[in-house]
Amino acid sequence: MYKTHYCGDLRASDAGTDVVLAGWVHRRRDHGGLIFIDLRDSRGIVQVVVNPEDAPEAHAAASDARGEYVLRIAGRVEPRRQGTENDRIPTGAIEVRATGVEILNPAKTPPFYINEDADIDEQLRLKYRYLDLRRERLHNNIVMRHRIVAEIRRYLTDRGFIEIETPVLANPTPEGARDYIVPSRVHPGEFYALPQSPQQFKQLLMVAGFERYFQIARCYRDEDLRADRQPEFTQLDLEMSFVEQSDIWDLFEELYLHLARTVRPDLNVPSPFPRITYADAMRRFGSDKPDLRYGLELNDFTDLVRETEFAVFRGAADSGGAVEGICVPGGAEFSRKEIDALTETVKQLGARGLVSIAYTAGMEALTEESVRSPVLKFIGVDLARRLGERAGANSGDLLLIVAGAGGMPAKEPGSAGRVKPSLDALRRALAQKLDLADRNTLQFAFVVDAPLVEWNDEEDRWDAVHHLFTSVHSDDLHLLDTDPGSVRSNAYDLVCNGWELSSGSIRIHRREEQVRIFELLGIIPEQQQERFGHMLEAFEYGAPPHGGFAPGIDRTVAIFAQETDIREMIAFPKTKSASDLMTNAPTPVDPSVLDVLGLQLKPRTARDGQ
Ligand code: ASP
Repeated sequence: MYKTHYCGDLRASDAGTDVVLAGWVHRRRDHGGLIFIDLRDSRGIVQVVVNPEDAPEAHAAASDARGEYVLRIAGRVEPRRQGTENDRIPTGAIEVRATGVEILNPAKTPPFYINEDADIDEQLRLKYRYLDLRRERLHNNIVMRHRIVAEIRRYLTDRGFIEIETPVLANPTPEGARDYIVPSRVHPGEFYALPQSPQQFKQLLMVAGFERYFQIARCYRDEDLRADRQPEFTQLDLEMSFVEQSDIWDLFEELYLHLARTVRPDLNVPSPFPRITYADAMRRFGSDKPDLRYGLELNDFTDLVRETEFAVFRGAADSGGAVEGICVPGGAEFSRKEIDALTETVKQLGARGLVSIAYTAGMEALTEESVRSPVLKFIGVDLARRLGERAGANSGDLLLIVAGAGGMPAKEPGSAGRVKPSLDALRRALAQKLDLADRNTLQFAFVVDAPLVEWNDEEDRWDAVHHLFTSVHSDDLHLLDTDPGSVRSNAYDLVCNGWELSSGSIRIHRREEQVRIFELLGIIPEQQQERFGHMLEAFEYGAPPHGGFAPGIDRTVAIFAQETDIREMIAFPKTKSASDLMTNAPTPVDPSVLDVLGLQLKPRTARDGQ
């Protein structure tokens, strides 16, 4: 028998019990007589004492043991001597007096400390992920992930949802990223696409009459990776029939509150979750995933600067751009260097610069002496006052203003010259600098009424903002032909603390409406038939009204674990260049494998040159 108990489970009430334990040497201290071993297993750590007088053979084995050796230890649980208890660990009231110690497997010295939460080189962590996962923080993250997924399954099952698997070898489902493709051996020259999401299947399950579906689904998107993106990631994919948007929002608000109560009752989760429109989110925060834990809202000054001599402001206003800014309470004290650093932040997002105006008096008493700004001689005190009034500035505050191309930013922030993404980045940087975001608050919100389409300059066509199965907001149907760019959709996101956690929509369920959207998106009838013929056909066999949502599991668990990188929540993540440093994937394949598939690689130079 390897173990009668788990190390981490032993408590004062176990005193007097004979136990057999098995686990890893977390720490070993040789007091030149007594040897203390902190023995670790999947449930925690317990202190073992090996006394050469009680158990000489056990002591000899314990002398040989080193960090991360695997041991089996027999002994008796005893209360610790008074004054030696450790209230920082759950087993701290007791220790195990060893009668036998057996080395089951020795270990090389690990490349980093397992028993410390130190900063370790990322590459090393990923190469030795199985050792990294032994560390307490990662171990707890993975356990929390399991608890959340288990809770989601229970919650949805209790509400009549059915978990159904859908294929991984599938056809392309456009979600805006590049597909991972898999060549077919049986059909040379043909390919499966790994699903970017089970979108089509879940809609077809509604046509099939299940009404309430969910799945913990793996999704694959070949796109540039960031802290909140992995090439393969997991969604709670969900679809319901006969629902309106608010039914879905209510369900998910309750689910997330339930998860918070279950796994992080210590965190502050304000409810009800606010529901703000996409247009308001953009106007007030410059982002469709605003962090609502703090203010620093955007102010639009465009109408105030049309008359100014200051060419940067006036030029932007005259050319249909925008002049917008943020009022920083107490920011008048920022040094030149601090403002330069913030200027760098907005420049990275394409802004040409940042105009600062510091106020050392209230707006009613403002004079040349009480405004500090590199552009004061161009804008004058009068405009400085009107800008300050618009932003609600007080004495001691600082206005930071960006001028440039206005309008809605593309879905991905970063589009050059846009004012909104720059101010979004500025807002985040300011919040961090001033420590405004309460770490122990999860501020969820639904961002609703997203636009249906956005113009794709490169391809010269409209692209779906959510995806092409999303239905049109009933108030905007009349604009479809005349002004598609201002049409709202029935799409919504769940956001939290500046992260997009989930997207979803009420879908189209009638063939003619779907065809109309395909046409708007420039998908010609042959392509409609070839790529989505099965969907169009299914809609003719009594498709019910339906809609869904799909929260990212990796992001959800990261939010609850207060991690900022989803890789801390994934057992075996990939690097930012999509490789697995432990298994070395991706790897070249033997030419014979390609042969069977009827594939031939282009010479490298030809591919690189493309
Ligand atoms: N399939 C969508 C996505 O992955 C979510 C949804 O519409 O339910 O973003």
